[in-house]
Amino acid sequence: MTTIETTAIGGPALVQERRLVTALPGPRSREILARKADAVAAGVAHTVPIAAVAAGGGVVVDADGNSLIDLGSGIAVTTVGNAHPKVAAAVAAQAERITHTCFMISPYEEYVAVAEALNRLTPGDFAKKTALFNSGAEAVENAVKIARKHTGRQAVVAFEHGYHGRTNLTMALTAKSMPYKSGFGPFAPEVYRAPMSYPFRDGLSGADAAARALTQIEKQVGADNLAAMIIEPIQGEGGFIVPADGFLPVLADWCRAHGVVFIADEVQTGFARTGAMFASEHFGIEPDLITTAKGIAGGLPLAAVTGRAEIMDSAHPGGLGGTYGGNPIACAAALAALAVFEHDGLIERAAAIGEILTSRLAALRAADPRLGDVRGKGAMVAAEFVDPATGAPDAALTAAIAKAAIAEGVIVLTCGTFGNVIRFLPPLSIGDDLLNEGLDVIADALAAH
Ligand SMILES: *Cc1c(COP(=O)(O)O)cnc(C)c1O
Repeated sequence: MTTIETTAIGGPALVQERRLVTALPGPRSREILARKADAVAAGVAHTVPIAAVAAGGGVVVDADGNSLIDLGSGIAVTTVGNAHPKVAAAVAAQAERITHTCFMISPYEEYVAVAEALNRLTPGDFAKKTALFNSGAEAVENAVKIARKHTGRQAVVAFEHGYHGRTNLTMALTAKSMPYKSGFGPFAPEVYRAPMSYPFRDGLSGADAAARALTQIEKQVGADNLAAMIIEPIQGEGGFIVPADGFLPVLADWCRAHGVVFIADEVQTGFARTGAMFASEHFGIEPDLITTAKGIAGGLPLAAVTGRAEIMDSAHPGGLGGTYGGNPIACAAALAALAVFEHDGLIERAAAIGEILTSRLAALRAADPRLGDVRGKGAMVAAEFVDPATGAPDAALTAAIAKAAIAEGVIVLTCGTFGNVIRFLPPLSIGDDLLNEGLDVIADALAAH
């Protein structure tokens, strides 16, 4: 069903082409999706109506033999490429050696090696330590635990449009009600929200936006009560919002001056995605703690908190951990993926993909004022759609373009508080031709709506 060919920087040797042999979903996918509807909780929704069976390079292949261009990487996860051969080999070898001991029962070297790598790769030339977990939300929860223990304070500030996960504490930190929070309260206490820098909508300089946020925090929370400030250096689910220059450094300096732990949530932006190993580097900040997950292990579930050793060590022995955190197979996958990020030119590749994305989208924007803003860094780029007369968000147009693109075999994701942003997060193993073809489909969809 699936033609095999040599190809792709990473991933199984799937033919690197968009190929629709049925309308989506095809009959086999339709069957599996019907079983999904019967067997899987309705709250676990999906956006692309296929049952995936293989993926690699820049394509996802479904159960009917359709081959879709992947501009989403499973939400910024398969950054090295899906089923990357080096990751797949590391996983297979590790699974034959040891699958689990629980690191809190009997430690193993793979976990230690991932911690060493993260301590070395994250920004900041100071002593660091790491703890490993299973998901981004779990990493965020633990970063807050550590910051509270370190400071002896309780309050946490998060930002408008921020997204930090779906567990109870991280729902409280997340800004958007529908679909993430609605009906799921009560939420964790001592979480406060500050205004974000959103240059396209607020027109403020970074310094002015930071002053606005800090005044609100000082008046409504008080620095003395504040354990941590958590922020995504470039917001993900909230709309790929890139803060104005200067915003993040002012916040980080203020935190340092007031003994507040500054946490950068790099779960979506980390690992070469933005054309730097971590997005914090673009803004010249050295966070006290960094949370990572998504791209870390080529698709295996793994997450981390990395930061200043004296902060990381404030939790007492036994205070941090979890049954599966830092599972040996996930760690082996991470070590393989991290080697690819470091040695196979992926940072440069992300920057080159970013050039293509931003130049092509900027050309579309010049021709169609409904595309109000193009922003992002590296292979993390967004297009925000608006009513050109008023600047009001146009979620209907955004949804229509995304739906049309998917029907034509291009996987794109939407995001944004107002649902009016299409985000581009291709795997860094995608070829230029496929990326350009995906953008052609988006351009056609925009022209048709
Ligand atoms: C996805 C995401 C999370 C949550 O990660 P999960 O692995 O889904 O729990 C947290 N923060 C950011 C910035 C994210 O993008």
